[in-house]
Amino acid sequence: MKYLLIIFSVFSCYSVFGQVVKPDKDDNLFSFVFMTDIHLQPEKNAIQGFQKAIDAANELHPDFVITGGDNIMDAFGQTWERSDSLYNLFNSMMANFNSPVYTTIGNHDLFGIYEKSGISPSHLEYGKEMYEKRLAPRYYSFDYMGWVFIILDGVGITEDRRYKGYVDEEQMDWLREELRRIGETSPIVISIHIPLLSVEAQIALGPTEAFKDNSIVNNANEIRGVLKGHNVKIVLQGHTHFLEDIYYEGIHYVTGGAVSGAVWNGKRFEMEEGFLLIHVSENQQFTWEYIDFGWEVP
Ligand SMILES: [Zn+2]
Repeated sequence: MKYLLIIFSVFSCYSVFGQVVKPDKDDNLFSFVFMTDIHLQPEKNAIQGFQKAIDAANELHPDFVITGGDNIMDAFGQTWERSDSLYNLFNSMMANFNSPVYTTIGNHDLFGIYEKSGISPSHLEYGKEMYEKRLAPRYYSFDYMGWVFIILDGVGITEDRRYKGYVDEEQMDWLREELRRIGETSPIVISIHIPLLSVEAQIALGPTEAFKDNSIVNNANEIRGVLKGHNVKIVLQGHTHFLEDIYYEGIHYVTGGAVSGAVWNGKRFEMEEGFLLIHVSENQQFTWEYIDFGWEVP
């Protein structure tokens, strides 16, 4: 099988890392792309970089694309004009995908949270309002070929106008209801920007280091408790620009690298700019591969 994988990577235009086993073509139910941390901006050739990622995704003919948050760079500490222009830019580029795109909210997508932005919390598009008005609800779900995709908002706004990884009570109530609807057997994929489980801190900061409250979902264990007894297959995560696959209690927590690498400054921890292509097979199994779409900082 390893030999086959090498053949595959040679004959495709893309390098393949962290691959498990590619399912037989006949067995392939559908495939989708998970693109996280795009950090779209007019600077740093990010428009050309994102377009290259879109072109690569289109060539792979996924059934749909999910973004993992931090779609733009950024609205957090910026003026309304800058934030507005970034959302317009992102929306115009979304039209270049050949397949439907489902977005996830990230911290950088929130408008005017940092005090330095000069934006008042009473602004009509403050916080998550701008994202919800321009892109999508902050949490929602959709069904596809017997699988259920749950998009969560893992960004909590603190009283002192910062953010932390958190899934609020309103969503938790909705999630419990949603899981009741889905039942115990339907396979589930979750997308959330800030990870529910990760080892990034142990690599980036050191083996004995803990996560800061803005790098991991603070109530992740509560969420794991709610998910118990349901057929959750994958939790797709972003935020840390890190590529990993942690298997715990039947769930793969996969952090999907970053389309922007180190925010369009090149590689991060030797990880290329890239995105995940996920193959789903008829027997409820899946595999993923990291697609290096060939971007180099000019
Ligand atoms: Zn983030």
